[in-house]
Amino acid sequence: MRRDVSDFSNRLDIDKLSELLDIPEHRITGALKRKTLQYVRLNPELFRFDKPVSTIEGGTSVFIDTYDVVRGFPKISRTLMLDPALRQHFSSCQKVAVEEKMNGYNTRIALVGDAVFALTRGGFVCPYTTEKARLLIPMGFFSDHPDLVLCGEMVGPDSPYVPKSFYGVESLEFFAFDVREKLTGKPMPVMKRRELLDGYGIKSVRFFGEFDVDKAHLGIPRIIRELGSSMHEGVVIKDPDMVVAPVKYTSSESNCSDLEYAFEFYNDYGRDFFFGRVCREAFQAVEWNEDDESLEKRCLQLGKSILLPMIQTIKKRKAGERIAEDVRIRVQSLDTVTAFEEYLGILGVDAVFGEPEKVGDEYLVRIRKMYKSTSDKTASILNGGMWS
Ligand code: ATP
Ligand code: MG
Repeated sequence: MRRDVSDFSNRLDIDKLSELLDIPEHRITGALKRKTLQYVRLNPELFRFDKPVSTIEGGTSVFIDTYDVVRGFPKISRTLMLDPALRQHFSSCQKVAVEEKMNGYNTRIALVGDAVFALTRGGFVCPYTTEKARLLIPMGFFSDHPDLVLCGEMVGPDSPYVPKSFYGVESLEFFAFDVREKLTGKPMPVMKRRELLDGYGIKSVRFFGEFDVDKAHLGIPRIIRELGSSMHEGVVIKDPDMVVAPVKYTSSESNCSDLEYAFEFYNDYGRDFFFGRVCREAFQAVEWNEDDESLEKRCLQLGKSILLPMIQTIKKRKAGERIAEDVRIRVQSLDTVTAFEEYLGILGVDAVFGEPEKVGDEYLVRIRKMYKSTSDKTASILNGGMWS
């Protein structure tokens, strides 16, 4: 039976979805009413969970032509102090596996019907990431394992979301960190997953080894310092069997670089974004038992990461410029550019696309993302407006 609860929701077979997800129908109709389950009018058509509903993670997508369900990627808890957090969290494990936490954007790649699509964290199909996924992932993986989802980080300079140039990636590459069952989200054990993907030539994030749970806090700071010195983000610490949920821990350098980025667009980022990052610095300084000289350095770095980009923004605005971020994408097909522009429009991102430039057999497209809130707030204060 189908029920109309809001626009487009009659496109969803609620009985069928309730059975597939093993949640009561009224949770689905309730979610449709509250718009936590939303219709996305792009090709392929889907419904996405904007927030968790019952046992279903936010970011879960339901494709309505085929009823393929791709579960959302779960949140990863963060520790600010390795000891005793790791011993407590992993008390039921003997060992933990440590993998690099790469700083790009979360991507799930799955077979929907008979085509491969790439989903962002929020459960949208990203046309740009889909083009890249189809190039990077051998179809053999999905022919052999149609019910598995590849979860990983898209990393590199040609990234419309998190462009980074220090990974030695030429355009954009996929680094896997999870293989999960499409419908249930159940993850595969760490080594089994790495070996499986190796067999298909699919890259995985760097592996730092397995550590005894009660010694991991002694080994990880060295890894973090080494990663931080090259601006890499940090590590994700995992139960080798993937029964206990993973935990993340990051370097001060990457933390400060996030702050530097966010303070350039200070009025567009939530205050929580800033607060958590300042707290991380304080706990790490205590756990690492830093002397006066190291503390001085940390304080200076943190202060610079906050103030300098914001000062730069104010100066730019004062000179009449609007506050914007320049990113770029590199595509094989101009249709991808059109689809990506439409997609950003649906997300409400204010972006100005440049003319495609031919580079070899691809096109480079520069995109200017406009930060309206920061632009307007800064202009208002420069013109005599009050902060609040
Ligand atoms: P979350 O909702 O999980 O807290 P967030 O948006 O705050 O996410 P991050 O702080 O970047 O994001 O941390 C989690 C993300 O780290 C994952 O969603 C994933 O995209 C990314 N990641 C990078 N490397 C790994 C890895 N080796 N294992 C797991 N996740 C990884
Ligand atoms: Mg990240």
